[in-house]
Amino acid sequence: MVIGSLNIDLVTSVKKTPLVGQTVFGENLVKHEGGKGANQAVAIGKLGGNVSMVGMVGNDDFADILRNNLKRHDVNTKYVFSTAKAPTGTALIMVNESGDNSIVVIAGANFELSDSIIEKQYFKDVDFVLSQFEVPKKTILKAFKIASEMGIKTVLNPAPASEIADELLRVCDMIIPNQTEFETITKVKPNSRKAIVKGANFLFDKGVKEVIVTLGADGAIYLNAEGKVHEESAYDVQTIDTTAAGDGFIGGLLTYLSKNKSIEEAMDYAMKVGAITVGKSGAQTSLPYDSEVKKFKEIKKLTSI
Ligand code: ADP
Repeated sequence: MVIGSLNIDLVTSVKKTPLVGQTVFGENLVKHEGGKGANQAVAIGKLGGNVSMVGMVGNDDFADILRNNLKRHDVNTKYVFSTAKAPTGTALIMVNESGDNSIVVIAGANFELSDSIIEKQYFKDVDFVLSQFEVPKKTILKAFKIASEMGIKTVLNPAPASEIADELLRVCDMIIPNQTEFETITKVKPNSRKAIVKGANFLFDKGVKEVIVTLGADGAIYLNAEGKVHEESAYDVQTIDTTAAGDGFIGGLLTYLSKNKSIEEAMDYAMKVGAITVGKSGAQTSLPYDSEVKKFKEIKKLTSI
């Protein structure tokens, strides 16, 4: 079960980014379904995992688009609620001719997903609860506390990078940060194995049981509180667009872990999903189906970390 954000991304191209008071013409208007929560839920749905989403949208047309998109990708939308208090989360993205982005994010309904909405009954038959930092931390805390009491594994992707209170770390079983997020939460730059172990130990001391640091083209590294370390190299693919690489990796990992696969098998599968995702442009559109991952030619792995 993913507790997270749902957004519509509106993307246009401009020659020059407008200055204050200026009006410019934009070319094209492309609408994408996004939000880290929805991306990770869709990743799992496309890979054939059994996934539901807890989230909040507005009372508008974007809400219907997002709900239908989740359903199309086999994500259960029973707990995607609506509010009249705010619009559906929207990102306004302008790309200028140099390729630089200017982005306005309206968190909107995502920030209306308050902790009072979370109920114990959503957690029935759930094995893993996954969340990210695009919904209120108080809501994540309540959900993780309920999950922990029920013996359900909690997984946090601390993105976008932001510090984590000890109270939340105490109820995180697994944390999956990228390099920037790892540095934000541990104050250690993950530039060597020794540094990663040091940062992970900081998290273990706070009660976290497992840490996976994703390292882009350098793969990922798993560490647990008992001292186990497992490195997984990335697959050598031509990179087209790294958007949603982390979402694909996490989706792949959770899909396999919920099928009781080992951490080694789950990380290798996740690594293939990540590699396929960076080989295509877009976010949810670049996330593969399970059949594509199975067909993925085992290209040699890059040298390890
Ligand atoms: P995020 O997208 O959250 O910043 P990373 O950049 O660490 O996360 O990438 C997540 C995963 O995606 C990596 O662990 C790896 O599996 C895969 N990946 C990312 N970049 C590449 C790349 N250039 N080549 C192959 N795999 C990649």
